[in-house]
This record gives sequence, structure tokens and C-alpha cells, in this order.
Amino acid sequence: MTNKTLASRDLSVLWHPCSQMKDHEKSPLIPIKKGQGVWLEDFDGNRYLDAISSWWVNLFGHANPYINAALKDQLDSLEHVIFAGFTHESAIKLAEQLVDLSPVGLDRCFYADNGSAAVEVALKMSFHYWRNKGQTQKTKFITLENSYHGETLGALAVGNVALYKETYAPLLMDVITVPGPDCYNRDAGESWADYSTRRFALMEQVLQQHSDDCCAVIIEPLVQCAGSMRMYDPIYLSLLRAACDKYQVHLIADEIAVGFGRTGTLFACEQASITPDFMCLSKGLTGGYLPLSAVLTTDLVYQAFYDDYQNLTAFLHSHSYTGNALACRAGLATLEIFQQQPIIDNNKHLAITLAKVAARFHDHPNVVEVRQTGMILAIELVKNKQTREPFPWQERRGQKVYQYALSKGVLLRPLGNVIYFMPPYIITAEQLELLADVAWQGIQIAVKN
Ligand code: PMP
Repeated sequence: MTNKTLASRDLSVLWHPCSQMKDHEKSPLIPIKKGQGVWLEDFDGNRYLDAISSWWVNLFGHANPYINAALKDQLDSLEHVIFAGFTHESAIKLAEQLVDLSPVGLDRCFYADNGSAAVEVALKMSFHYWRNKGQTQKTKFITLENSYHGETLGALAVGNVALYKETYAPLLMDVITVPGPDCYNRDAGESWADYSTRRFALMEQVLQQHSDDCCAVIIEPLVQCAGSMRMYDPIYLSLLRAACDKYQVHLIADEIAVGFGRTGTLFACEQASITPDFMCLSKGLTGGYLPLSAVLTTDLVYQAFYDDYQNLTAFLHSHSYTGNALACRAGLATLEIFQQQPIIDNNKHLAITLAKVAARFHDHPNVVEVRQTGMILAIELVKNKQTREPFPWQERRGQKVYQYALSKGVLLRPLGNVIYFMPPYIITAEQLELLADVAWQGIQIAVKN
């Protein structure tokens, strides 16, 4: 088996996510034979440094021996069982630990099997809570400009990245979209905190107007990842929490991408010392091993559904693979690694190294901003640094960086013209240097005419 034979078999039967399949006429698919640590290896023996943690899921490397052992053990006892009427130890332990580790007040865990599904659960639970409380006029959701919450119709509706959303607009529920706190747009010399605070005024206005008919605000805490890794200050979350309380609107924190240490704390919400009404988790939840998601919520929400069956207040949402035992066990092993090793502290050092290796990009003539929150660093390319004129999207400059990096053994997957690093936490300083070198060279090639 070679890359070529496998790619050709693949292309005759498969259809890949988030891909224009015709691109593969020119850029070959890469069949991966094995993963080890930060490395992926293809069938021709080429290695790729996984700088994007395989779509932001991997935390402790591929084929992590600790998670592997836990999964093998789980396999020998239980792979899966229906999660209505039945339960199992890994699901219970994982929920106990999530409740323990998450912001105070999040005491209930509802499982689903991917990020978008978790967002659907949170939206439905919020709406249903108000309904169970007799507030049937609360039917709307507030979201931020440039946000992303997944691809299923409800999750897509509360997202705001045109590339993914626009085509399906006729299918989507109406939402209230508020200009966001994305600090890329701040005035020269303005701090992140000042800009985020200033932008909050727009949210407060909308909350005031819609307190009667709105169920919840949904937000990606600190980093709008799919929206080009745009970042903002934690002050926005504190202000939002207070306003949601004031106007009796739920706060849904989508920590699917930023949870589990990505932003410097275990959960991004911690940086604002807030407890959302719903917290959506997925991706890193299983260390990047298996699809699983969880929605954590408060006892107050849970109690609004707890009643005699005949009153029809129950949350009858389900997915066949809810609480899958293997996935839960991978989640448990992941949390055990956090407990056994000073991961959050190590990441602080790693984030400093990340900033150091990326320092040179600030002066690049086509780099308008290098921004960082914890273990996420993004480099924004533009055509004109002075006017901030972007490269036309049709030119696909980021794609050129992707191709170049692959040829040098690095997997980067830019978002448009934003090159970002979001590596597994086991990456070394030397590997970060390599990453930055390759990104630099790739950018040099990509910005040429
Ligand atoms: N929310 C956020 C913030 C995400 O980044 C993503 C995935 N990139 C999702 C939701 C959707 O998760 P999934 O791809 O597992 O459906």
C-alpha cells in the first residue's frame, strides 16, 4: 500500500468534510498509516508534525500510551450500552470529575456525541427550561458576529461565519446577531480590555431589548476559533454574565474548542471567574481519541425538567451513542493526565516559548497581527499592512502555506489568510521552532505574486 494507491481508492468512494473534492486533482490526499506523539506518518514514510492537533482535538499526542491502555482495559469490559435506563462506571466517573473541575454551580452533565450535538442540546435545553417555567414567549437566541458553533442546522443558525452559513440561510432559524468583541478591530493603541468593554455596550442594548423573548446568549469564550482565531478580553465574559443575570437570559459557553487547557486555564470561563448556565464540551474531552461531548448545566435547570412523566416536562433528546463507554473512558484517562501532571503550568511555559518562536512574524511586511491566547497563536496575513487590505480570498494564500508546510513535514491548516498554531501539549521547544521556520518560509512563498 502506498499513498497513491490508497488516495485513489479513497477518491473513488469517499467524500471528505469541509473540502472541495476537486482540489484533490491537484493536492493529493494524505493517507495516514500511524500517529505517534505530535507526528503523523503516511504510507510513503513521510512524517507530518500535527500543528493543529487534528482539528483541535488532540491534547497529549497520538497513540498516547496512557489513554491507549485505558481504552484497551475498557474494551475488555464494555464497549457501549444504551444510556437510557442504563449506565456504566466510566460515564459516572467522568461526569463526577467534570462537575468537580468545571466552574462552581455546574452540577449536571448531559452527554452527546459531537460538538454540534452539544450545542443543539444546550439550545434546546435553554428553550425548554423557559417553557417548563411558563415563559413560552422566550424563543430567540443571541449570538456574536464571527462566531462558530457547528454544522447541524441549529448550531449553524447560531453561528455567523458566512462561508459555512450563507448557503443554508433559508433553512435556518432567525437569530439576533450582535457585533462582537473581536480585538482585531480595536483602535490603534486601544487595549483588549478597553475595546471588549466598549463593544459590550452593544450587547447590553440588545439584551435589554430582548429580555422578554430571548432564551440565551451563546458565546465562544475568549477565542472565536473557526472565525479566524479572533480573540477578546475576559472582561467581556464578566460583563455578559452580569447582564444575562440582570435580564434573565441564559448564558451558553461553547468551550468545545477552547476547553481543556487551550487558553491557559482548564476552562476559558475561569479567566473571567464566571459560571455559565450551560457549558458545551467536546474535542479535547477525549484527548482527541473518540467522539464525545458533554453539556454541563446547573441544578436549577435540571430541576425545571424533574417532574411526573405525565406533565411532559422531560428532556427527551437522545443520540444512540450517548455516553459511549469507550469515549467516556478516553475522557477519564485524559482528565487523569491533567491530574497526574502539571499540564496547565507546563502550558504556561510552552505558551511563552510559542510567543518567542513567533516573535519574528510581527515585523513581516504581510503580517498585520500576531495574536495569542495560551496555546493558540494566530498570524494574520494581509496584502497591505498599512491599510489592512486583505488578500482577496480567491487567491487562497493560506492554501499555499498549507501545501508548502506539508512538503516540509508540517500539518498547518490555515483559516483563510490566518495561519495558526494549536499544537498538542506535548510539543517541544525544538518542534515549535521547526513549526515557526516552516510557517515563515511558507508565508514567504504564499505572499509572492
Ligand atoms: N463549537 C465550536 C466552538 C467549535 O470550534 C466546533 C468545531 N470546530 C464545534 C462547535 C462543532 O463541533 P463538531 O465539529 O464536533 O460538531
